[in-house]
Amino acid sequence: MPEIHTGHKPFAYHAPMLTTSMFSMTVDSVGHKLLGTFKPVPQATDRDVVVRVLACGVCRTDLHILDGDLPPHRAGVVPGHEVVGQIVARGAQATRFAIGQRVGIPWLGGTCGGCAFCAMKRENLCDYPVFTGYDRDGGFAEYAAADERFCFALPERYDDCHAAPLLCAGLIGFRAWRLAGESAPRRLGLYGFGAAAHIICQIAVSQSQEVYAFTQKGDLAGQRFARSLGAAWAGGSDEAAPLPLDAALIFAPVGALVPAALAATRKGGTVVCAGIHMSTIPAFEYRLLWGERVLKSVANLTREDGDAFFRLIDDFPVQTHVQAFALQDANAAVQALRDSTVNGAAVLVP
Ligand SMILES: [Zn+2]
Ligand SMILES: [Zn+2]
Repeated sequence: MPEIHTGHKPFAYHAPMLTTSMFSMTVDSVGHKLLGTFKPVPQATDRDVVVRVLACGVCRTDLHILDGDLPPHRAGVVPGHEVVGQIVARGAQATRFAIGQRVGIPWLGGTCGGCAFCAMKRENLCDYPVFTGYDRDGGFAEYAAADERFCFALPERYDDCHAAPLLCAGLIGFRAWRLAGESAPRRLGLYGFGAAAHIICQIAVSQSQEVYAFTQKGDLAGQRFARSLGAAWAGGSDEAAPLPLDAALIFAPVGALVPAALAATRKGGTVVCAGIHMSTIPAFEYRLLWGERVLKSVANLTREDGDAFFRLIDDFPVQTHVQAFALQDANAAVQALRDSTVNGAAVLVP
């Protein structure tokens, strides 16, 4: 397992930083909310870079960490794994990016490099991963540190706020979309039309797929939003798809959508569960799976996913829709995500 840097080592090189203390929002273990906390600015050691955070997206995984749906990995962690930042310091061995360069820090913050999954080039399944905003502090802060080997250079066409949701909603959505590609979909269902689906909808449309968007029952605004992004059809998840789907991606953390999506998908089609946590999947009849339908989940990302994704959206640009919140208003952003009142993605700006 790679060493997790705690910032106690002296660092060999750093750009001038005017401050040693920073404001951050940390997980409060009891209250299901974030606490404003002052912490030392992280120091850059070894292969780490320190960035001044320019924007950080709020992902549903942050809610799962906050709510204890995922077991806590570190008390008082700073969440946030859709970090857009400008490099202000580099560790002695960090040479991949220049001081002043803008990078993105994603959920996958480190891997062991030695386990069977790393050896298979399936580093998303690494046995000893380091996740940003879960195992080490993330981007709900003025500064963040990250291993440069897991950072991405970002296409210049996306400004800071609009680039942030690309780093998880975009990336994990892209991995889910690629896995569904095994059934060569022409008609693609998207269940849950939030941050990820609104990006993947545009990618699918750019690749000549027909998108069928399923929102919460009665969410007419969400359905209009989906149609405005090119969806061929949009309706509630209680409605039947007008035509059999070739594949479906489930972004909403709702287990009941699994049998619903299988029922909507043709023989040989693929249903991908794209979230890290989902409510219990109800029992369903075998006939929904029969006919060589494939049901799979997506876990994390690989660096290759990121490289392919950022190349694709440089060639086929997507328009991310964001709602910006000040960093100290992170709890309002979290609440908006819980209430599904964000059209697109919530982004924190320090
Ligand atoms: Zn995420
Ligand atoms: Zn590994």
